[in-house]
Amino acid sequence: MAIIKVQRPKLSPGEKIYFGAIFKGMVITLRHAFRSLIGKSTGAKELNSSGVGITMQYPEQKWDDQLPEYYRGTPALVTDEQDRERCVSCQLCEFICPPKAIKITPGEIPSNDEWAKVEKRPQAFDIDMIRCIYCGMCEEVCPEQAIYLRPDYVVTGTSRKEMVHDKDRLYEIGGKRVGLVNKWNDLK
Ligand code: SF4
Ligand code: SF4
Repeated sequence: MAIIKVQRPKLSPGEKIYFGAIFKGMVITLRHAFRSLIGKSTGAKELNSSGVGITMQYPEQKWDDQLPEYYRGTPALVTDEQDRERCVSCQLCEFICPPKAIKITPGEIPSNDEWAKVEKRPQAFDIDMIRCIYCGMCEEVCPEQAIYLRPDYVVTGTSRKEMVHDKDRLYEIGGKRVGLVNKWNDLK
């Protein structure tokens, strides 16, 4: 077995006592505090109803317009530009999901269906949002680009049942996604 020796960087005396790093952190914190007080913090313009512009009046005010494209909110299923369900019920996401939040019942695609060559699509697909930890492993592992963490973050319900997103709800959140790899189009 190969042994790899990791070279640890040599710290200067100043780095060893951490004062420099602590001071740097305090300067950054103070800079943010000052910018907030003069209304120059990120998003302050949108938050001006809170007075000095440093407190968001949620839920009247939301960050929705400012969420980055890579924001990891609710996991959801997507269809493509041909309205095809991209999920092929391989169950990899169900297997990988750390808190076991996903439950899939695979279903066979009828032989007279336009996409019969794909063979399977989910008959049922549930994600228990009480269990989900928004880790993104389902999106990472999916070989079909079928499941994505979308920018939706408002996940509420008055019962455990309501917190389970079924297939219809997952497609409602995920919607149509264009520009994905459509490998099934070419396969005979
Ligand atoms: S985001 Fe993580 S926890 Fe949530 S369903 Fe996907 S794999 Fe499971
Ligand atoms: S969402 Fe992706 S990983 Fe999960 S069952 Fe469908 S095809 Fe497989």
